[in-house]
Order: sequence, then C-alpha cells, then structure tokens
Amino acid sequence: PIQVIKILMANGVMANINQLVDFDTAAIVASEMGFEASLETPEEEEVKETGEIPLWRKMLADEKDADLSSRAPVVTILGHVDHGKTTLLDAIRHTQVAEGEAGGITQHIGAYQVEHNGREITFLDTPGHAAFTAMRARGAQGADIVVLVVAVNDGVMPQTKEAINHARAAKVPIIVALNKIDRPDANPEFVKKQLGELGLVPDEWDGDTIMVPVSAKQKIGIEDLLEAILLVADSTSIRANPAGKVVGTVIEAEIDRSKGVMTTLLVQNGTLQAGDAIVAGMAGGKIRAMFDFRGKRIRKAGPSTPVQIMGLSDVPNAGDIFEVVANEKEVRAIVEERKQKEKDRKGSIKRASLEELFANFQSGTTQELKLIVKADVQGSLEPITNSLDDLNKQQSIKVSILHAETGNITESDIMLAAASDAVVIGFNVDADAAARRLAETEEVSVRVYNIIYRLIEDIEKALKGMLEPEY
Ligand code: GDP
Repeated sequence: PIQVIKILMANGVMANINQLVDFDTAAIVASEMGFEASLETPEEEEVKETGEIPLWRKMLADEKDADLSSRAPVVTILGHVDHGKTTLLDAIRHTQVAEGEAGGITQHIGAYQVEHNGREITFLDTPGHAAFTAMRARGAQGADIVVLVVAVNDGVMPQTKEAINHARAAKVPIIVALNKIDRPDANPEFVKKQLGELGLVPDEWDGDTIMVPVSAKQKIGIEDLLEAILLVADSTSIRANPAGKVVGTVIEAEIDRSKGVMTTLLVQNGTLQAGDAIVAGMAGGKIRAMFDFRGKRIRKAGPSTPVQIMGLSDVPNAGDIFEVVANEKEVRAIVEERKQKEKDRKGSIKRASLEELFANFQSGTTQELKLIVKADVQGSLEPITNSLDDLNKQQSIKVSILHAETGNITESDIMLAAASDAVVIGFNVDADAAARRLAETEEVSVRVYNIIYRLIEDIEKALKGMLEPEY
C-alpha cells in the first residue's frame, strides 16, 4: 500500500490507505508499477475467495460425526443503509410477541431467537456490516445464513454489493429479502434483474437464490422469510456437538455500572454453563450469572444460543472467540500469556526514532533528511521552515521539507511520511488517535515540540551527530 500511495502522491493524489480511486488513476499507478490495468464490468467481477476457515469450524472438525446434531441456524441481516435492516429485525422479533410470548422482547443484547414451526432461528441483532466484518476479521464467523435486504424502490446499492462480497468470501448462503414492497414506487422485477447480474439469480428464473418479497414496515412476508431460512438451513449442514468442547464468539460487550462487564456470547459448540471459567480474547473470568436474550436467568446454553453473561474481568472485543477452560487459575494464566504476547508484539515493532533515523543516514547513502512540519498557526510555521532552510546552508546533509502546513498531525501526514521515509515534526499541535496508531504500525517517527528553539536545536544536534564521524 505504501508503494501505491507513494506513486499516487507523486501524481498529486494525497490518498489515504482506504481511499477509493477511479479507474484512470488506478491505471496510471498500475502502469508506473509495471502492470497493465484492465477495466472489469460488474458482471465479470470475481469475488475473491478468502478460503479462511473460522476457528470454531476447525474445532468442530475434531468432533466425531456421530456426536454432531443439528442446531438452530444463525442468521445475520446485511444490506445497504436505509433499506430496512433494523425494521426487519424488529418485525421478526415481533412475530413472537404476536404469538403471546411473555413480556415481549424489548432488550437488545446483540442477538435473539425466534421460533417458527417449532424450530428455532437465531438472529444476530447488530445491523450493518460492522459486527459481521469484525467477526470475520478475527477469523470467527457467526452466521450460517445471510439475509440480504434490498429495498425494491432503490435497488442494488454499493453496500448491497459489499454485503454480497462479504457473504461470498465467508461462504455463507444468501437469501434476499426484497423489502418495501408496500411502496408505490416498488419495482421488484428490476431489482431481481440487477441481482441476477451480480450472480444472485432468483429461483423462479431457475437460479438458486431464494428471494422473498417483504414489507418490514407492514410486517408482510415475514413468515415466508422465516420459512425460507429454514429451507436453506435444511440444505446446509448446520450442526454442532452439544456435549463437545465449548467454543463460540463474542457478539458484543459493555460495562454496566451496577453489573460490571456484560458480554453477549453466541455458543457455537458444546454447552455453556453458569459457573464455567472462560477466556475470550484478552478477557476472562468465571460466569457469575447467565441470561437468555429475554433477560431470564438460565443455567445452561447449547449450540446457537445467544446468552448474556456476567463475570468477565475485562471487556472483550466483538468477534473474539471464547472457550471454556478448567478453572480461574487457567483463565489468569492464558490471559496473562496473551497480554504478554501482545506486549512483545508491540515492543518488537521498531519505531525509528529521530536519532536512529540519523544513524541510518550516517551509515547509509541517504544524504537527505525529509521532514513533514505541522504547526498550530502560520505565524509559527514560517520561522520554523526558515530556520530549517538556514540549517541547510550550514550542513552537507540536506534537510528537505516535504510538506509544511498548519493543523494537527493526521493520518495522511503519517502516510506521506511512511511513503517517503520522512519524520513528522509538530509544533504546538497534537497527533490524533488514528494518526498515532498509524504511526505505530508504519513505524513513523513523530516529534512534537512547543519551543521553536528546541525544535531547531534538536534537528541541528542530530545533523551534527550525523556528521561527527568525519572528525
Ligand atoms: P437500515 O438502515 O437498513 O437499518 O434501515 P431502517 O430499518 O432504519 O429503515 C430505513 C427507513 O425505511 C425507515 O424510515 C423505515 O421506516 C423505512 N422502511 C423499512 N422497511 C420498510 C418497508 O417495508 N416499507 C416502507 N415503506 N418503509 C420501510
């Protein structure tokens, strides 16, 4: 990425690492890197298979076939913003209330279950891609089925495609909910065609994607959607060993002022019990109390069950894998070990200090010190750049200022520094959190001063230091 950004910057595009560039720009960069870019139409768009196997599935592979039994499918709802994900999740939740479920389901813990034709379905109640993506990024995978919501008055949108790609990369089957069919401007046929072009061909056109017309708002077609989910579940092997090793995924976690850390877990194999000692990422502890998604206290939870637990020492991340270990002593040992590893990993990132950088210049061939200067106001930027220019006249090693601007140190400053082996110098400014994180991963040296004299002195000293061997 740094290489690409370097070329982009050389071409006047101050790009950051997540930026989208148009085809023409991409083609220029590609050609400068010795490649030829060719434009693909969406129809030809290949979805990259990551081939990743979620950790819990690997664990499942250790289970004997005879021990496996079918479990409730876990469903996540994806789709473009405003296409109705939240409304649909609420509508599905309410199907149970209509059936007289005591108290209804009012609390949101990140997942819930409904019953349809005597069978259970688990829904991950965190609309949007964030949770799903977080899970995938950590090698976990919560969902067995993706329900892709597409508003039939709006059609396929960028996040619709993104969701399709996510689902495909995770090898999770997709059911399409053609939402908002109640709207006068609904055009489901057009949307089906659009989806067909993306490889989701409706079953009525001999394809293998089930598409269910629904109105989340008017609660139309919800039963059909649940039926479709069970149908797809039956064609996939959704199984686990209720008596096996207990593993699952953290759905969400938060600190409650009176209850401490409240963590929602999705059990994926085995049966979790109150009192179990668990490790989840860098957090761990003994389950002091366990609740179902309705907030009812329970003692046991089998595969596909979402539960909320009390008792972890720290807040784990959504997407962390959890597992049951022998006792609290083991929890502490594992967490300690993981924390130490994390520390070592961080410590091993070589952060080139200004001195080290100069030392490199000293030994290497580089005779240029590149700086990116950020200052609070124009009034301080000028004397700094002038003084640095003056330094140039005195030294044989060149100080070049790649970029001088007022304002805080941002991600793009770090990107530029990383791309050009520069040091970032700040005067009366701060680096925002994202910039600091990036500086750490990209090993960019950032120095902040509040006295101009000190800033110049530091650079001068370092330059002198560089020249010392000549004496
Ligand atoms: P999300 O961003 O995907 O979670 O979308 P929301 O569930 O927040 O819905 C966005 C908007 O669309 C809201 O104003 C909903 O009331 C509306 N909406 C959702 N489903 C339907 C539907 O079936 N019909 C109509 N007419 N409006 C809907």
